Amino acid sequence: MDPLTEQLALNMPLTLGASLSGIASPESLRGGPDTVDLDYVVEGARSVIVFGVPFDESLIEPYLRKEDYGLNANKIRTTTFAAGIAFEISTVLTSLGYEARPVAPNFAFRKDTPNGIFDRVPPASLKLIAASCGIGHIGQSGLLITREFGAAFSLGAVITDAVLKPTEPLPEEDNYCDRCMACRQACVAGFIEPEPVRIDMGGRSVRVGNCRAAARCAYPCGGITGLHPGGRWSTWSPGRFPVPEEDEEYRTISRKYVGRYLERKRSGAICYNPLLAGTYEMQYTCSNCQFVCHPDPAVRRSRLKMLRNSGVVVEDADGNKTAMPPKEAAEFVAGLPEERRRLYTDDA
Ligand code: SF4
Ligand code: SF4
Repeated sequence: MDPLTEQLALNMPLTLGASLSGIASPESLRGGPDTVDLDYVVEGARSVIVFGVPFDESLIEPYLRKEDYGLNANKIRTTTFAAGIAFEISTVLTSLGYEARPVAPNFAFRKDTPNGIFDRVPPASLKLIAASCGIGHIGQSGLLITREFGAAFSLGAVITDAVLKPTEPLPEEDNYCDRCMACRQACVAGFIEPEPVRIDMGGRSVRVGNCRAAARCAYPCGGITGLHPGGRWSTWSPGRFPVPEEDEEYRTISRKYVGRYLERKRSGAICYNPLLAGTYEMQYTCSNCQFVCHPDPAVRRSRLKMLRNSGVVVEDADGNKTAMPPKEAAEFVAGLPEERRRLYTDDA
C-alpha cells in the first residue's frame, strides 16, 4: 500500500512550519509553459508538493518607511527555512523509495538556456505551480498573491514520482488583484507592465503577471542600484547607477556594476546569489512589489505612500544604511571621498 497519502503530503510542510500547502500534477499543469514541466526536475514526476512560508508582517511597514531594515534578515531566514522544509520532505520521500527533489525558493536557475544562469529561468515556476493547486492567484506583479498573506511569503516545493491527487485551484474570480498598479509604481526599474495577460494551463485560462526581462528586476532587487529615476525616493540600496529604458541594456548592466556593489561593506544578514560573481553576497534591498501588495486596496495605497515618502538611502563606511531627504542624500554622496563615491554613482 502506498504509504504517502495526499493528506500526509499536504500536512508535512504545515507540520514543519509552512502555512499554506497544495499538490499539483502533470495534468493540473498541462499546456503551461516549459517551467511547469515537472520532468525537467524529476523524470517521470507524477506530483509536486508546494507550500508557502510567510514573512513577518510586522516588519513590512517599518521596512517600507525606511525605519527598520529587519525584513532583509527575515526574508533571508524565511527563504532558507522554506528550502530546509523542501529538503527535509524530499529526504523522507527518497528514504521511502520515491524519486523526490527539493526545489529551492530562490537562486536556482537552469543552466541549459542560451545565457545559462544569467537568463534567470528557474527549474520550476513555483508560483505557477502554486496557482494551479489552490494556494493563491498570480497578481499583475507576476507574484503569487493570497488572501492570507498578500504576496509576502516564500514558496518551496518537492517534485516526486509519488502519485498524489492534486488539490483544486481557487476560482479565478477570487483573485484580489484589481490591477491597482501599486506594485508597478513601487518599482524603480519599470519591471511591471499594466496590460492583462492570460495563459492556458491545466485546461483553464489563468491570469498571470506581465513583467519585462528578469534582469530588469534583478539589478535593483539584488541591491546594485536603488534610486528611483525621479530622484525622490529609493529602495534600501544606496546605489545611484542608471536605470536604462531598454531591456537589452539590462543584459550587461549588472555585470558592469557588480564589482563596485561587492566592494561595499554589508551590515546585517546576507544570502548568496550565484549571479553576483565575486563574493556572491547579497542583501534584499527592494521586494517593494511584494511588500506593497495586500488584499485590502487601502493598505496598498497606504504602503505605496509610505514608500514614496521614505526618503533616499545612503550608507556609512561599515554598510549601515539610513534614509534621508533626497537633497541631503545627494549632498552626502557628493561629499564622500572619491574611492567611496564610485561605489554608488558614476558621477565624478
Ligand atoms: S499591487 Fe495591485 S496590481 Fe500589483 S499585484 Fe497587487 S493588487 Fe495586483
Ligand atoms: S523586486 Fe523591486 S525591482 Fe524587482 S520588480 Fe519588484 S519592485 Fe521592481
